[in-house]
Amino acid sequence: MNLHELTIQKALKLLKEKEISSTDLTRAVLDRIDAVEERVGAYITIAGETAMEQAMLADRAISTGNISPLTGIPLAIKDLICTEGLRTTCASRILENFVPPYDAFVIKKLKKAGAVIVGKANMDEFAMGSSTENSSIKITRNPWDLNRIPGGSSGGSAAAVAADMCLGSLGSDTGGSIRQPASLCGIVGMKPTYGRVSRFGLVAFASSLDQIGPMTKDVTDCAVLMNVISGFDPKDSTSVPEDVSDYTSFLKNGLSEITVGIPKEYNAAEGLNPEVADAVKDAVRVMEDLGAKCIEVSLPHTEYAVAAYYVIAPSEASSNLARYDGVKYGFRDKEKKSLIEMYRSTRSNGFGPEVQRRIILGTYCLSAGYYDAYYRKASRVRTLIMQDFDNAFKKCDVILSPTTPTTAFRIGEKKDDPLAMYLSDIFTLSANLAGIPGMSIPCGFSSAGLPIGLQIMGKHFDEGMLLKVAYNFEQATNFHKQKASI
Ligand code: GLN
Repeated sequence: MNLHELTIQKALKLLKEKEISSTDLTRAVLDRIDAVEERVGAYITIAGETAMEQAMLADRAISTGNISPLTGIPLAIKDLICTEGLRTTCASRILENFVPPYDAFVIKKLKKAGAVIVGKANMDEFAMGSSTENSSIKITRNPWDLNRIPGGSSGGSAAAVAADMCLGSLGSDTGGSIRQPASLCGIVGMKPTYGRVSRFGLVAFASSLDQIGPMTKDVTDCAVLMNVISGFDPKDSTSVPEDVSDYTSFLKNGLSEITVGIPKEYNAAEGLNPEVADAVKDAVRVMEDLGAKCIEVSLPHTEYAVAAYYVIAPSEASSNLARYDGVKYGFRDKEKKSLIEMYRSTRSNGFGPEVQRRIILGTYCLSAGYYDAYYRKASRVRTLIMQDFDNAFKKCDVILSPTTPTTAFRIGEKKDDPLAMYLSDIFTLSANLAGIPGMSIPCGFSSAGLPIGLQIMGKHFDEGMLLKVAYNFEQATNFHKQKASI
C-alpha cells in the first residue's frame, strides 16, 4: 500500500484502527514530495520538521484514544493563508520573508482537529491569475502533463493533491481559483458560500469575493474538510452565524427529488472546447440516469460577468494592496532616501507585472470621476447576476456547467495575453459575484488524456446539496479514481 495515495477518509480509518501511524503516513508524503517536487513544483515551503513533530503528537493522541476529525492527516495550505511561525509569501517578492505571528481561523481549526501541515503551496502572486505562472517564486506543472499549467491561482494546492504530495489541501477562490485548478488537475474543489468560512488570516485580494475552500481527491474528503473549516468567526465581519451541518450526512445515494438546471447561455460561451462540452453533456445524462430531473434555465447576464469581475476585483485589490508600502511589513527598498521614492521603488520591485496591472486598473476604476462609470456600474451588473441566480434557483436545486472552457493549456500559451487568461474564468466568476457555493468534480478526460471538470453551483448555504449531487455522480463514475502517472 502506498500511504501517500490514501484519501483522507481511508487514512483516518487506518489511523483509528492503528493499522498505520501518522508518522509513517507523514513520512510517506514527505518522501513523495522528495521524489516528485522537482518536476511538479507544487510547494513554496516544505515544513518537514514541524510536520513530523505534529505527526508524533497525533500518534500520541491516537494512542490515548484522543481522536479528532483530522488527527494525523497531512495537508498542504495555499501560501496566502497565515500560518504562525511558517513563512507566508503570497508568492510575492514583497512578502518573501514574511512570517505571520498568528494562525488564520482555518489553520486554528485544522490544528485543533489534529491535522499535520506539510507545507505551503505555490500560487499566482496574491491569487491573481489562472495558471500559477504569475508566481514570483516558481512555476507549477500539471501532474497530468508537465508541459501544461495546473490552473490557478491555487495551482500548487491542486497539483499537490493530484500528485499525492499531500492528502488534501486548502485553496482560495475569488473568481474560480479553487474550482479552475481542481478541474484542470482532475480533483475535487469547493468554493463555499461567501461568509461560510472565515477569511480571518487570509491575505485579502478582493474582500467581497474571497473564500477559502477544500481541494481533495474525492467528494467525501471535501465534506470532511468542510466540516472542520466552516463556521462563525467573530473576527470576520462577513462571517455568517448560520449553523454548520454535518456535511458527510449528505453523502447518500438518490437524486430522484432533485432538479438540475442547465444554463442555456453557457453553451454559447466563447472558446468552449467541444470535448469539454461533450463531457458535460454526458455528465448531465448520468444525472438523469440517477433520477434527477434536468431542465434548461437562463442566466441572461452571464456575458457581463467577466467585465464586472475585472472591475470589482482589481478595485478591491488596489485598496487591499495599499498596505504593502515597505513600512509595515515585507520587502523595503532601503537604498531610497525619500519616503515617496521608497514607496515607489518598493512597490515597483516588490510586485510582479500582473499585480501592478490590477492595482493600476483598480485605482483608475475607483478614482474620482470614474467611480460611477466603472465601479458603480459593475456593482449594478453584479446585482443583476445575483438576481439571475435567484430566479434560476426558483426552478432548480443545482446548476451544472463546465468548470473551465478548455483543458489545461501549455505553459506560456496565455502568459502574455491577459485577456485570454481572464476568459478561462468565464464559468466560475459568476458564483463569486453572487456569493453562492460552487464546486468542481472530475467528469471526463480529453483525447489527450487531460482531466475535464464539472461545475455544480447551488443556493446560498446549500453546500450539502452540492455534495450530495457530486457524491452521487462520483459513485456512478470512475473519473476520480484515475491517477496522473508521474
Ligand atoms: N483567475 C481569476 C483572477 O485572476 C480568479 C483568481 C482567484 O480566484 N483568486 O482574478
